Amino acid sequence: MNKEITLDEIQDFKGKYPKQLWALFFSEMWERFCFYGMRGMLIYFMVDQLLMKGGIANLQYGATQAFVYAFTFIGGIFADKILGFRKSLFWGGLLMIVGSILLAIDPVDFFFLGITFNIVGTGFFKPNISSMVGSLYKDGDSRRDAGFLLFYSGINIGAFIGGYVIAIGKGTMFTDMIPVELRWNFAFGASAVAMSISLITFIYTKKTLGPIGLSPILHLEKTKRKLYETSVYIGALICIPLVVIMVSNSVYTDYFMMAIGPFSLIYLIIEMSKNTLAENKKIIAALLFILFAVIFWAIFEQAGGSLSLFAKDNVNSNLLGIKADPNGINNSINALFVIILAPIIGLLFISMSKRKIEPNSVVKFGLGFLFLGLAFYTFYSMRFFSDKNGLGSLDIFALAYLVVTFGELFLSPIGLSIMTKLAPQRMQGLMMGLWFLASAYGQYAAGLFGASISPDEKASGMEKMHTYTSGYYDFAIYALLSGVILIAISPLMKKLMGEVK
Ligand code: GLN
Repeated sequence: MNKEITLDEIQDFKGKYPKQLWALFFSEMWERFCFYGMRGMLIYFMVDQLLMKGGIANLQYGATQAFVYAFTFIGGIFADKILGFRKSLFWGGLLMIVGSILLAIDPVDFFFLGITFNIVGTGFFKPNISSMVGSLYKDGDSRRDAGFLLFYSGINIGAFIGGYVIAIGKGTMFTDMIPVELRWNFAFGASAVAMSISLITFIYTKKTLGPIGLSPILHLEKTKRKLYETSVYIGALICIPLVVIMVSNSVYTDYFMMAIGPFSLIYLIIEMSKNTLAENKKIIAALLFILFAVIFWAIFEQAGGSLSLFAKDNVNSNLLGIKADPNGINNSINALFVIILAPIIGLLFISMSKRKIEPNSVVKFGLGFLFLGLAFYTFYSMRFFSDKNGLGSLDIFALAYLVVTFGELFLSPIGLSIMTKLAPQRMQGLMMGLWFLASAYGQYAAGLFGASISPDEKASGMEKMHTYTSGYYDFAIYALLSGVILIAISPLMKKLMGEVK
């Protein structure tokens, strides 16, 4: 019989990355294919097939994004308390498969139901796979950030390919092979296939994970444990009709967002009362990172909103002399840059750490903001190079995305990594859920920010260019200020973080 691999054997790996990282990499890659495939189709499908008005579709889209990330908080708690990471991930994946199959069967009638299964499923899947990556490393292992950067490439490979699935629905890909009336069924079906591959990858590799992600209540007697687990499964299913109602009516999103933040903080304070002072100091540091992450995502996520309208209205179609769709570039170039840059930056961190000159996480975060500010200044600068119709250069637009991507890579994977460093073992899922809750609030604020810089439909090209870019100038200032504040408070943060770098 094979001997179970122990945690020490996993964490004492030689080389740059633990081999289990690849299993999690591929599982997450396929999950993100499913998620971003669906996300990329949402707004288009609502307008084109469900015949919703643009404004309503935008709100509806924002609601799904806010819910999806808000549910990671709930998924994180139940993983910590009852299911463990593995069962949570499996359950979440299963819900996502069901959601995608429902959409593949009848995307019109099952639209909100299918999306809701995916929202709840992502809540159980997404934070917990990230926490498992953290468990592959010992405390203080300086290779952890690089591991998260590699994992982040996987996320973006999935996002990059998945984002293109919309072409099946629109009928610009596999046109001859799929009957016209079934195009959207096939497009949503592709997400179901991707999610199934994700889950199968996970099932086949989970034996290499030794004790990582096992249930936290293994010490309880079996019937009691099963009772708790089944209650979580049933509870999640009971939530589904409620979430359908809330997602299909975006007014409820406002209420939900107003409630979940305070609720999560109260819950956190109760959990913190069971900790030592040193543990709580680290949690306060984690909360500061999370707070800054809300600001980061509120600016970054203009990508899905105002920047996509800016691309439509004010960006030409010429990328380095080749004709290209500015909206296509807006949707996919960030993921492409991540795929190229993440491993390079990861190796850079590893080599800096060997020479003992790697910046700590606070400084990395600060740099992330400075890059974000520079990127939005670059978007702003497009007004100086536009033609008389207010059309700006796609080259500069793409360059701004290159700079945005540096910012993202200094913050997003580092944020995942720092959560796993700062949270005590029994709060890993909760803190990862809170990290993604910052994305939920960021998405939510991004919609409000985006709406505040939205020009009048009838404005001239030049006027639109001015309105959007004035907004981007303000965002650049907010980002730069946040970066400077972070770097300024880094001595305090370091005190709170103790031995964590
Ligand atoms: N793009 C990353 C992902 O999909 C980060 C998303 C986020 O936290 N807003 O995991």
